[in-house]
Amino acid sequence: MLYFSLKNYKNLASFEEAILKGLSPDGGLYMPQYIPKLENKFIEQLPIYDIYTVAMSVIKPYIGKYIPEKFIENIIHDTLNFSFPLKKIHDNIHVLELFHGPTLAFKDVGAKFMAGCLSFFSEKLDKTVTVLVATSGDTGGAVAKGFHKKPGVEVIILYPYNGISSLQKKQITSLGNNILSVEIHGNFDDCQKMVKKAFLDKEVNKKYTLTSANSINVGRLLPQMFYYFLAYRQIIVKNKNKIDLIFSVPSGNFGNICAGMIAEKMGLPIKLFIASTNINDTIPRFLKSEKYHPLPVKKTISNAMDISDPSNFSRIWYLYQKNIFQLKKKLFSYKFTDKENLETIEIMWKKYQYMLDPHGSIGYLGLKQYLQDSNNILEPSVFLETAHPIKFIDHMPSFLRKEIVPTHELEVFLKTKKTKPKVSLPNDFNIFKNWLLERK
Ligand SMILES: *Cc1c(COP(=O)(O)O)cnc(C)c1O
Repeated sequence: MLYFSLKNYKNLASFEEAILKGLSPDGGLYMPQYIPKLENKFIEQLPIYDIYTVAMSVIKPYIGKYIPEKFIENIIHDTLNFSFPLKKIHDNIHVLELFHGPTLAFKDVGAKFMAGCLSFFSEKLDKTVTVLVATSGDTGGAVAKGFHKKPGVEVIILYPYNGISSLQKKQITSLGNNILSVEIHGNFDDCQKMVKKAFLDKEVNKKYTLTSANSINVGRLLPQMFYYFLAYRQIIVKNKNKIDLIFSVPSGNFGNICAGMIAEKMGLPIKLFIASTNINDTIPRFLKSEKYHPLPVKKTISNAMDISDPSNFSRIWYLYQKNIFQLKKKLFSYKFTDKENLETIEIMWKKYQYMLDPHGSIGYLGLKQYLQDSNNILEPSVFLETAHPIKFIDHMPSFLRKEIVPTHELEVFLKTKKTKPKVSLPNDFNIFKNWLLERK
């Protein structure tokens, strides 16, 4: 299996190159050359296989011979070492909880998997690979934790000095070892710009083997398919008949939903997807007007989704042959305001004693909207709950904050982990560059 660049289909890369480069040198996202089909029989019999076997069957064709099977197995075990519970909320609506990982958000899955692959390749190359990443919060924590103590890899995380929550800051700064956090006196965009400049800088590249760990890396994208298969596996245990599932995904950069779409192309019976967004609604507008017109980003309480030009959309567009009619058959999309979001969190708690976070709440809202519009409230459906409410406690309705129970892992973390002294730099690329060149 090779990967091609969505900017120029002739530019090909191996799995190893695609992971190490992140983005094709021509600026395009990498896409697998073809989507392998799994046998129907395998899908029908999913419940008889353990989760590691399911994950191996899904991911193996994309890696091929680049990583020995035994090693892939280890990476899978490390990636899936927490649970992905599927719970019925009401009628035929289920929630898939993706927040039981170490940093309490679904990004743990992609970060852990990519870290395992990168560590394998860096040992093979016999040089240290430096992951350089800018974060607005969730990515930094997941990457820090996923890559912590991985041999052959060091991580430099740039974060805006007052742009992330105190819990997120602690997750990024408390680990030490091969994880370096750099506080920038600017906002997230400033951090992002500095990272982009560093990737293009000759002197920096002479000293470092740089790679990115942002969500466009295929090493993060592809393992996200695992939990769509695991959700389906749990559903068919409970239902005797074959079913086509509906998935609603709270979406920002559209990486999570894109992984689901690849899973569907591999043969997972998914009737359709709902991309649920906050008021950063480029895609809901696109499906209506057929005009792709991103507006300036607006801040919301579901801030991991405050993105107006979703980078993975070029992959989705390609998957549906750049054809709006094809796409509209499989993708519905709705946007919701903070007010609707908060009301839903409250109703869900009062009516069903289930606590949503401000991202999962958007996923639920999108699903409800679709089921109402299609006049079939009983269709089997799943929305993804992408984070634990405690991660966004400042945005939760105030009456609910005292009800939020931290996970066991988080309690241990809060008690034991101290923030390490960190590097603090002004918003100035040359100063950052000098710091990079002079260290060690
Ligand atoms: C990153 C994130 C999202 C958005 O996921 P995409 O793959 O970028 O669409 C949703 N919810 C949470 C909690 C996140 O951290």
